[in-house]
Amino acid sequence: MIKDDCIFCKIAKGDIPSATIYESNELKCILDVAPANKGHALIIPKEHFDNIFELDAETAAKVFSFATIAAKAIKEETNCDGLNIVQNNGEVAGQTVNHFHMHIIPRYKDDGVKLGWKQLETNPDEQNELAKAIKSRL
Ligand code: 5GP
Ligand code: ZN
Repeated sequence: MIKDDCIFCKIAKGDIPSATIYESNELKCILDVAPANKGHALIIPKEHFDNIFELDAETAAKVFSFATIAAKAIKEETNCDGLNIVQNNGEVAGQTVNHFHMHIIPRYKDDGVKLGWKQLETNPDEQNELAKAIKSRL
């Protein structure tokens, strides 16, 4: 499915131009127009899925499979020291474009890019109970 009012559907179709790294029948990989760092890329399924809650496992496998290839090429080209894979789902999680996409963000020493969280404390009983509850929903 393609959504008429979706910017990434338009990019996927080529109606809006993008600096394109790769394109197949299913995927497009482009450079982010407002990158966190040089070489920041996005992998976008051509079909419209709002987020991971809608995405099927087969498309997800294609996205991540291509991420392994793109990551190496981006590392080679940019000489980055490391790389983050980021994938936001829902406004509260920082998603601003509601068409599933995966960020590939090259990282450089002292680059000042902030991706982090304060770590909560846990206890084993609560963790085991939660793991069991989630497992029952798989
Ligand atoms: P999100 O916050 O939804 O995870 O990420 C959306 C990303 O899409 C942002 O990093 C933003 O810079 C990028 N973006 C938004 N509009 C465009 C566009 O028209 N072209 C490209 N190449 N990237 C875009
Ligand atoms: Zn879309």
